[in-house]
Formats: sequence, C-alpha cells, structure tokens
Amino acid sequence: MDNKTPSKIITENFLDDVRNKHQHYSKKSIENFYAKTDDKPIYAGFYSKANVHAGMSGSPVNIDNISDIWTEVAKQKDNSPRRAIYIHVPFCLSRCKFCHFYQSRTRSEELDVYSKYLLKELQLASESNFAKSKPINAVYFGGGTPTDLSPVSLKNLLSHLKSNWNLANDCEITIEGRIFGFDDDKIAVCIDNGVNRFSFGVQSFDTKIRRQMGRIETQENIISKINSIAKLNQANISIDLIYGLPDQTDEIWLNDLKIAANTNSIDSCSIYNLKLMTGTPILKESQNGKYSAPADMKRQADMFLLMNDYYKSRNIKRFGLRHWAFSNRERSIYNFIVKYEQTCLPIGNGAGGRIGNYRVFQSGENKDYYKKIDAGEKPITMALKLPANNTINGALIGSLEEHLCIDFSKIEEEFNLPKLTEKFSPLLNQWQEAGMISFDNKIMKLTEAGEFWNVNIAQNLIDYLKLEFRNSQSNLCMPVEIKN
Ligand code: SF4
Repeated sequence: MDNKTPSKIITENFLDDVRNKHQHYSKKSIENFYAKTDDKPIYAGFYSKANVHAGMSGSPVNIDNISDIWTEVAKQKDNSPRRAIYIHVPFCLSRCKFCHFYQSRTRSEELDVYSKYLLKELQLASESNFAKSKPINAVYFGGGTPTDLSPVSLKNLLSHLKSNWNLANDCEITIEGRIFGFDDDKIAVCIDNGVNRFSFGVQSFDTKIRRQMGRIETQENIISKINSIAKLNQANISIDLIYGLPDQTDEIWLNDLKIAANTNSIDSCSIYNLKLMTGTPILKESQNGKYSAPADMKRQADMFLLMNDYYKSRNIKRFGLRHWAFSNRERSIYNFIVKYEQTCLPIGNGAGGRIGNYRVFQSGENKDYYKKIDAGEKPITMALKLPANNTINGALIGSLEEHLCIDFSKIEEEFNLPKLTEKFSPLLNQWQEAGMISFDNKIMKLTEAGEFWNVNIAQNLIDYLKLEFRNSQSNLCMPVEIKN
C-alpha cells in the first residue's frame, strides 16, 4: 500500500542490487562512509540518498536449496523476542503513479481464489513447531490493498488466525488499505474479528494532488469514513502521508499536516519522502509535462523541516523516526518488530520476511504460488542467509528507528563487544563534524539533518561494522563469524 513496509515484493533485480552493493561495500575505505560537508548538512547529506530502508544483508541461498529452508525452520523453536505474521494481498483497484509495489489489478473472483490460498498457507504454517513455539505479537495485512478483500475472505482469514495461532493477548492486528471500497460490512467484519488497527494510505488530503497520483477518494470522503470508523471506538487509525509529490506546495503540505493532527479520529501518522523508483508512471508523466516534476532532494529537505517545525512546535508525540502520534492509541508493534530484525513470517505471493536465520521472499506468478501451496510447500522463491551479526544490525537499526539515537555502551554490553565504540569512533566523529549526529558519552543522537538522512546512516553503520569486522578479524571480540 505504501512505502513503509519492508515485507513487500522483492524482485530478482532487487536481489542483484543487494549482491552488487555488497561487492561495492567490500572495497570501501572509511571515506566512502563519510557525510558530505560542501553545503548545509541537510542539503549536503551523503553521496546519494539511500532509498526504502536499511539492513538488507546476507548471502543469497542457492535456488536448489530453497525448499529446504522451511523444512529446517519449521522444526525449530523460535527464539525471537517478538514475532509477527505478514500477510500480503497483491491486488489494487488502480495503480498509484508513484508506486513501486503494484502487482495486479483487483478482480473480485481472483481475489477470492487468492484469499483461499492465503488461508491454506496459513494452515500449513500453523502446524509447524516454529509457529507454535511462542505467541504472535502482531499480524499485518499489507499490500497491495487488503481492504479489497471481501467480507467473507476477511472473516475466514481473521477467524482462522484467532482459532489456530497463539496470538498474544495484546496482539496488534492491522489491516492496511484504501478508504475507497472499504464499506461498512468489511469494517464490521474486521472489528468483530479482532482487528485493532487500520492503516490507510492517504498520501495527501488534497483531492487534486491525490487524483493526479491515481488515488480516487476526495478529502471529504476520507475524513468522513475515518470519522465513522473512529466512532466505533475499537481500533487505532493510522494514516500515511508523502511529501515531495508533484504540485505539492508548502501550503498544501502544511495543510496535510494540519488535517492529520487536527482530525481527532486520526491516532497517528507515518510520513515518508517520495521515493522515485525506476519504472513508476510518475517519472514518465512528469517528464511529459502532465504535472510538475516531483520534488528534488533539496526541496524534500525543506518540506521535511517544515514538518518537523510544525509538529515539534505543537509538541506532537514523536513515535519513532517516521511516525507521529496524536493520541495514546498507537503502538506500532509490527513496524518495530521488522526494524529490530525480529521474526516476521511471510504469507502470500509478494510477501517477504525473516524466519530463523533467513530473510525470505515469496514472489512470482499467482499460478505458481497456487501450485506450491497445493503441493503442501512453503512458497519461498528467494532467500538470503543472514550474517551471524544480524541481531546487532537489528539492535542498531531498531534503536535508531525507535529512539532516533543509539546508546553504544548498551550495544557493547548486550553483544559483548567492548571495542565497538572505539571502532566506530572515526566514523561517528566525522558525522558529528558534518552535522549529522551528536556523539557524547557513547550516545549517538541524530540531528535534524541526520533524521532526514537516516537510511544512509543506518546502512553505513551496518556496512562499516561488516567492513571493520572483516578487516580486524576478531579484534572486536565479536563471538560470531561473518561469511559474506
Ligand atoms: S494502493 Fe497504490 S500505493 Fe498501495 S500498493 Fe496499490 S498501487 Fe501501490
């Protein structure tokens, strides 16, 4: 639905990028990790703004061994502190112009068939030791557009989860989607079957900007639907906004921020910069003059500052790097499970996740997905074997995401790495001089510029850790081995 969830379709090209990037970083010297200093920090940034999210590391698993992964993992007891299930619905009524995740157009008959296969996959997975070993803390229906599922499909899937999975008492159950087509029957089924969080991809409240980007509903309809769901008083309502869209002036952007904060029915808001990905219609259409060019990095930085000023001046609660809370209902359990590199069991065609020592992806034609499920197989199509230091990566990224800072003394103690800060200090000193962070008493805090460039900072920390460890062998006292 939006660009926040890492558990979406991952293509073969994406895996190639991971491989190339690792080769690139393996040759890096420390200067390659430095922030630039030739402009104001927020404008200078790094050599390019890393897209999407940090932390994708590991060695690709040979395709011939892919089917062994689930056989291995299914037998294990999970030792992840918290666990989520991600359920992917790869259909949308129409393609949003900026979207990189669009897979196929919603056709109700096909969606009904697909949802039966989701149920079968859930049933297969629920019988494993891995599934039974601990409670599930979050279930996330993402896409695509899960709100396109029919009431019957929603009911079947949700009641299956309630009856067959060990859901924690406070399990967060989120349905992501669009306001358009999310009628009262569907809402009632969701509420009656345990959904306690809705995440709507509003992107902008401005009807013209929305429609230009392929969204359907008007501002009035969105607010009225959100108000009617909130009246039920059963679930947290979160929305997504994007800055940097074509024709989105400061005035329009500020108005988006105001509406989000002042509509009492909205509990929280995730805010993202527009990420321009190859192959998305927005690139072509803006080049053809259909609308103005999307914001460049400098303009996005200004829009980011506008947001920070506006929300900070009103003491709106920061809920992690990209999330603001207007009430005390938001918990964001799923989002933090993913950021901390904890277990995320993927279900569906186009889903990705992390199970055991693997990051796994399930993508391909729906007919191939159905075939695998009919054969009783977990439909994993690509996988990365995680490096042994993946939990450290998770601790670094998770802390940055949740607290906008990293307490290195805590990480040193938790992972028995007494020299970690010393190893990082050349990098941290440069970032401090460049205005990206403050660094004092082993605590690294992001500045506003660092917040804007957070993905680069997170990715560079991980890559630098890997490089340092390789160079210094066991100097870090890290009781792990790094293979790639
Ligand atoms: S609803 Fe729009 S943004 Fe969401 S997945 Fe579909 S095309 Fe992409």
